[in-house]
Amino acid sequence: MSITVSGITRYYGTQKALDNVSFEIPSGQIVGFLGPNGAGKSTMMKIITGFLPPTEGNVNVCGLHINGNNLEARRKIGYLPENNPLYLDMYVTEYLLFVAEIYKLDNKRKRVEEIIETTGLIPERHKKIGALSKGYRQRVGLAQALLPDPEVLILDEPTSGLDPNQIVEVRNLIVKLGEQKTVLLSTHIMQEVQAICERVIIINKGVLVADESAENLEKGIQRSTANIFIEFDKPAAPEKINAITGVVGVAPKGNGWLVTAKAGKDVRPDLFRFAVENDLIILTLTIERESLEEVFQSLTV
Ligand code: ADP
Ligand code: MG
Repeated sequence: MSITVSGITRYYGTQKALDNVSFEIPSGQIVGFLGPNGAGKSTMMKIITGFLPPTEGNVNVCGLHINGNNLEARRKIGYLPENNPLYLDMYVTEYLLFVAEIYKLDNKRKRVEEIIETTGLIPERHKKIGALSKGYRQRVGLAQALLPDPEVLILDEPTSGLDPNQIVEVRNLIVKLGEQKTVLLSTHIMQEVQAICERVIIINKGVLVADESAENLEKGIQRSTANIFIEFDKPAAPEKINAITGVVGVAPKGNGWLVTAKAGKDVRPDLFRFAVENDLIILTLTIERESLEEVFQSLTV
C-alpha cells in the first residue's frame, strides 16, 4: 500500500475534526478526497504529510510510519498545501533551487530544469512568483512538491481559485503525474473527481461516508432510487400509476410525471400496460440517472 490511514481521530480543542477515519490507497491510484468545506480534508492531508499529529490513529506511507520527525517518510511525499504559501519576491528558478537546496538534492540545477519542463513553467521561469497568475503559481507549488521525486502526491484543492482554462491545464498535469505516482487530491467539486479520479473517498463532518470507484458510486446510488420520467398524450390519473406494484411515489414534473420505483423493480412494462388500458399514448419514457453531483449531495447533508 502507498498510503494506509488507520483509525485517525483529530480534535481541535473540544471540536472533533476527524472521527476514526481509515482507508488504504494502493500504489499508482489517483484518488479524489471529497467533502464540503469544513469536512476535515485539509486536516487529514496535514496528518498524512506529518505536519499535524493525530489525536489517535496511525498513518503509513510506503510502509513508513508518519510522524513529524520521520524525514525519510516525509521525503516520499510531495505536498501541495491549501492556499500554498510561496515566496512572492523570489524568481521561479531561484525559488525552486532554494527548495532543492532544502531537500539536499543531487544535481540541483538539472533537477530544477526537468521540473520546470514537466510543469510547463518554461515561459514564466524568469518571473517573480508574485507576478505570476494563480494558475502558474499553482504550477510552481506542484513543481516544489515534485522536486524530490516523491512516490506520493498529496494535493489540497489544487484547482481552487483558477479560471476554467487553468483548471483544465492543471487537471491535465495531474493526470500526467498520476501515470507515475499515487495521487490523493482534495476537492469540494464533484466534477473534478469525475474528470480525473478513478476512486472517490468522501468525508462529511469528519466521518468517512463513501469509499468507492467513481463508477460504482454512480451505479450504486442509481439502483436504490429508480426514477422514471413518463409523459402521456392526455392527462393521466396519478393515483392509478401509484397503484402499480413497485411504484412508491408519483409527482408531477413538467408535462408528465416522475415515477419513483422500488430498488430492483422494473416498472416499465406495467407503465405500458397502464397506458394501453387507459387509452393513453406514451410520448416520453426515460430513466433518470442520479448524477454523481446528486450522490455527493445526498451523502453529505
Ligand atoms: P476542509 O479542508 O474539508 O474544508 P478542515 O480540515 O480545514 O476542512 O477543517 C475541519 C474542521 O476543523 C472545520 O470545522 C475547521 O473549522 C476546523 N479547524 C481546522 N483547522 C483548525 C485549527 N487550526 N483550529 C481549530 N479548528 C480548526
Ligand atoms: Mg481544506
